[in-house]
Amino acid sequence: MKTIGLIGGMSWESSIEYYRIINEAAKEKLGGLHSAKSLMISVDFAEIEALQHAERWDEAAQILIQCAQNLERGGADFIVLCTNTMHKLAAQISGSVHIPFLHIADATAEKIRAAGMKKIGLLGTRFTMEQDFYKGRLVENFGLEALTPNEADRATVHRIIYDELVQGKILESSRTEYKRIMAALVEQGAEGIILGCTEIELLVRAQDSAVPLFPTTRIHALAAVEYALR
Ligand code: GLU
Repeated sequence: MKTIGLIGGMSWESSIEYYRIINEAAKEKLGGLHSAKSLMISVDFAEIEALQHAERWDEAAQILIQCAQNLERGGADFIVLCTNTMHKLAAQISGSVHIPFLHIADATAEKIRAAGMKKIGLLGTRFTMEQDFYKGRLVENFGLEALTPNEADRATVHRIIYDELVQGKILESSRTEYKRIMAALVEQGAEGIILGCTEIELLVRAQDSAVPLFPTTRIHALAAVEYALR
């Protein structure tokens, strides 16, 4: 079994889910008292969030590069970055170590492709929904068409992530908003919806959507276990 190197804390509300899912999956696959071999370095999200919103991405990259290098030195066999948004820095982070980097959008896109879907809704932070590092990868590497909500709804999705979900607040009123926004994406032709922020699946459940959901924390964590056992 390979040792999984997790860069967590963005936010810890979802990192704890990675840890739980990874260990549950290892137990399910191997049985008995088995659990996953892993290391996690968890950052202070307040520092990261401030750098994100100030667009000081190079400084954020330096922090995450340090994490990746420390994981490599600590014996991790590959890197799992436990946030969609910070995959904006995937190239810098993966280029700073000699071990593989398991990209969250690739793991998710493979699931979508296996489900035979082409047109997919994408919910996440503004960075993930509006910049090319994530959508572009889905389009160019996997031939998917990614649909995002309109400007006002993107603002709502983003605000609920930072004001509530990363702070552990799960509100029924916000679930209702996400349901409305997902229904609008389905109306536009989305055959499925990517929960492209690792905290959204704490709020939104399969029954909240008319089309299949692709929860990125679960998909990424399970891909990590599969890779660890390969
Ligand atoms: N966890 C979130 C994501 O998957 C947002 C927090 C962050 O900006 O890292 O994008």
